[in-house]
Amino acid sequence: MNRVCNFCGNKNVSSKLVQYVYKHDDRFLVVNNVPCEECEYCGERYFRAHDLKRIEKDFFAIYEHGKKAARKISVPVEEFVELS
Ligand SMILES: [Zn+2]
Repeated sequence: MNRVCNFCGNKNVSSKLVQYVYKHDDRFLVVNNVPCEECEYCGERYFRAHDLKRIEKDFFAIYEHGKKAARKISVPVEEFVELS
């Protein structure tokens, strides 16, 4: 894929499958193996708008329409000021 990183101008961008975390009002949806192009220099990731729309749609299907996700994980939460 021939694309220039919009962020740093690097020309080496590779196709990858990555974990995408969608966050909305402190609610999260983790989607594994989302296709993206990642800049090999700065790590900026580029997703297709269509794919992000699908993730957003799935988020609302789960949180607002009771769709059952493939699986669930529990995530620890900390306040930074309380860290030792
Ligand atoms: Zn870059």
